[in-house]
Amino acid sequence: MKKKLLVIGAHSGDFVWRAAGTLAKALEEGADTLVIAMSYGERGESGELWKENPNRTEESVKIIRHEQAQKAADALGTPIQFLDWGDYPMLISDERITQLTRIIGDFEPTVILTHSEKDPFNPDHPLAFQATQRARLLSSGAGVPSAFKNIDPPVWYSFEPHQPELCGFVPDTFVDISSVMDKKLAAMNCMGAQTYLKDYYAELASRRANHARRISGKKDIQFAEAHQSQVPRVVSSIF
Ligand SMILES: [Zn+2]
Repeated sequence: MKKKLLVIGAHSGDFVWRAAGTLAKALEEGADTLVIAMSYGERGESGELWKENPNRTEESVKIIRHEQAQKAADALGTPIQFLDWGDYPMLISDERITQLTRIIGDFEPTVILTHSEKDPFNPDHPLAFQATQRARLLSSGAGVPSAFKNIDPPVWYSFEPHQPELCGFVPDTFVDISSVMDKKLAAMNCMGAQTYLKDYYAELASRRANHARRISGKKDIQFAEAHQSQVPRVVSSIF
């Protein structure tokens, strides 16, 4: 079966910090990937742009955020789709759930990566989790034929939030991104509106690699991204 990774972020920069390495690794392995940016994060995650010029319009921030996220996606080599749902607050309507369900049905991901269920510091991230949860269930029929195209239920993970403990995030899966860390750095370099996060997430990748080495004994892991599975995985062999 073709490997297909769908990464769903509430804001246009989320995929870069939390999943760029996993995306680049999937592409290196020959998988198809797709990034969904539900919004541009024009209000809540573009502080540096507003600081630079407080008189900017929201539309002009969206244009810059679009360009930056597109460049980051290009640096990784992944397609990206912008839904422009607006942020802070993001609103999830029935139409938007339908739109997301159709995207999942069309792409047929084997793995979905999105936000954690809780985030006491961000009003949009848990909403993105809930929308993804609903759309994933609708696209996989929730066990019965539904109004939507039916696909096999994709494996589903949460990527690492900014303050993991306070979001109830307990990693159970580490992806070795050592071979593609240069791509993650290149993608992070494109996000001019959030440069302060670059060093933070480079250090995090290094720290998660330390954990991954201890867990696996694989001494050559230099960088890793951590995720938490949301549904059990079914395997054909315990090995
Ligand atoms: Zn975000």
